[in-house]
This record gives sequence, structure tokens and C-alpha cells, in this order.
Amino acid sequence: MTARIGRFVHLLAIPLFGTAVALASGLLAEPPEHLRWRQHDMHRPKPPVADPASTPGAAPRDAIVLFDGSGLSAWETPEGRPARWLLKDGILEVTPGAGPIQTKSSFGDLQLHVEWAAPAPPIGTGQDRGNSGIFLMGQFEIQVLDSYKSDTYADGMAGAIYGQYPPLFNAARPPGQWQTFDIAFRRPRYDGSGKLIEPARVTVFLNAILVQNSEEPWGQTGWLEPLPYDPTVDRGPILLQEHRHPVQFRNIWVRNLQDRPAPSVEDLKPVENVRLAPAVLNACTGDYEAGPEPDALRVSVTREESHLLLKVPTRPTPIRLEPVSDLVYVMPHTDARITFEKDPQGRVTSGIFRAGDTERSLTKVKP
Ligand code: MG
Repeated sequence: MTARIGRFVHLLAIPLFGTAVALASGLLAEPPEHLRWRQHDMHRPKPPVADPASTPGAAPRDAIVLFDGSGLSAWETPEGRPARWLLKDGILEVTPGAGPIQTKSSFGDLQLHVEWAAPAPPIGTGQDRGNSGIFLMGQFEIQVLDSYKSDTYADGMAGAIYGQYPPLFNAARPPGQWQTFDIAFRRPRYDGSGKLIEPARVTVFLNAILVQNSEEPWGQTGWLEPLPYDPTVDRGPILLQEHRHPVQFRNIWVRNLQDRPAPSVEDLKPVENVRLAPAVLNACTGDYEAGPEPDALRVSVTREESHLLLKVPTRPTPIRLEPVSDLVYVMPHTDARITFEKDPQGRVTSGIFRAGDTERSLTKVKP
């Protein structure tokens, strides 16, 4: 029973379950109407093909390499002067007194990889020990600090969104050892009047341990208090902080992230339902075997007022089938449909269920 039910559940029940439950219960947040693609729509644009690294740990081949040890051509000072941090043996080192450096390019939504090491042997305590930082959009600091067996305030530890969110764990390695940050950042969104409609979102892995889980900064990083959001920019540089400590960096790369394409007006156009006489609807009702296998799952189609209902075992609620012609019925909010077929005598005896690129035959076994 499980195998055959599982097959059809996969084809029908699970794809439809989420939307049906959400609509019925109102418990789940749905995307706004203008972003809500029909489920399993084959016209929905496919994501761009990425080009992963051929060896684990290396930069993806399509990443923007910001620092690979060969030079500082991607960097400058905030004033636009050449970056003057120490570059030695392929490693970049914060030069105390030289000020911060930032990328010449600006970024919005991004994935960022940075490797760093706190000075060894360690010098100083608390915030005065291996302190640097990675400012996303030049505004939101992911703290770089020697937090290995070193005490400081929680929202200033390595991996903190400084002054706002402590890391979920102290995932720091000892000073002198290379540490990795993998960061996903979604920039804040503002409406046309500059009102914040979506705060920034930050996810951070420190040494492969999740330390920030889609957190929403409540403003730009500030010392003693957060600064307000700045609606005047929607991109900014990646800035590395100079905090008087010779923190080292290597292997820095970034990938820009794009929003998923929104559906067009055409994609959102509702399928036009037709009103059919009860006798026409009744012609499609009955029990069907879903698939050619001898143990194919049995489903049933019944009429309810001016539409049909598809009942699938294991599904708590039937699926509504809206007619678009006397033989074609769509499942609302999806690109799935059943096309019934008539035999030479004009009786509906079979059908085809389609959802995305999956297809299943339906054979009537009981009217
Ligand atoms: Mg810092």
C-alpha cells in the first residue's frame, strides 16, 4: 500500500497540500499575489546555472574574487585612495593606523566567503584583542574578534552582528588558526518614499557553524547605539575594519544574488472557468486507477455543485477541480490539470493527470 500510495501522493497530494492547507487554515504566510506563481508551472524561469569549484573549499568558478593573495586591485580606502594594508606571502594583514579598506565594487544581496586569523600569540583582552570586522553594504558589521577563550560582551563576539545579535555559538578557533565566514546577506528594501518595507537579513556560518540564522538588523551598526537604516542606498561596498590589530585575511570571494523572477501579468492570469450542466460534470465522475500498474492507486472523482472533487487516499481533503471545458479541469493555484477522454461511444472512460512535467494516466474502473 505504501509504495503505490507514495507514488500518487508524490504526484498529487504533496504538491497541492501546502497551498490547500495554507488557504484553508490561514496559518502560513503566503507570498503576495503578484509573486505567487502557480505551483509546478513549467513556464516559471529556471535559476541560472552556477559554476561550483572543482575542489571543495575553493572559490566557485563564477565567484567574484576579491582577494586571492595576488594583490589588492579590488580594494581601496573609503576615500578612494589605494588600499595600503600589508600584503605578504599571499596574506593580507590589517595595518594598524592605515584605516579600513573596502571593495571598489558595490553589492546588495550576496553570498560572501572570508577567511581570517587573529594575531598569535594573542595580545590584549575583550574587544581589544584580534578585532576587525566585515561591513556588509558598508553598514552592517559581522564582528571579527579573537573570541577563543577570551571574554567580552555577547553582541561583540566573533560572528556577532555587532551590537545587535550575539552569535548563536562561540565557534571561534584559537588565534593564529584560519577561520572561515560564510555569509548570506539580503539587503534592506525600501518603498518609493524611502520607508523601510523589509529589513536586511543576515545568515552567518563561522567555521561551518551557524551563528546567525536569518537575523534582521534593526539598523546600521553603531557603537553604543544602532544607527537608523539608510534608504538612500541599496548597494554598498564590503568594508574590512581596521581596529589597530594585525588580523590577517585570505581567500575572499563574493557572489551576487538575484531575486527570483516574479510572474508576469500573463503568468498570473487566472484560467477561465466555465459553467457546465450537472450532466456534463457527472459524465466525468467515478473511480479511476491512477497509472498503468496492476496495483495502481485508486482515486475518485465526484461532483460538488458546479465543480468536481478529486479524492486521493491519505489526503485529508479532496482537491477541487474547476472546469475550463467539458473535459479539462484545473486545480486552482497550480499548473496541474486533468484532461478527461471519451471512448468512441462518447463515454468518459479515461483521463490524463498532468502537473509540471509529470504525467499519469487515469482509467475509469467504476462509473
Ligand atoms: Mg570589529
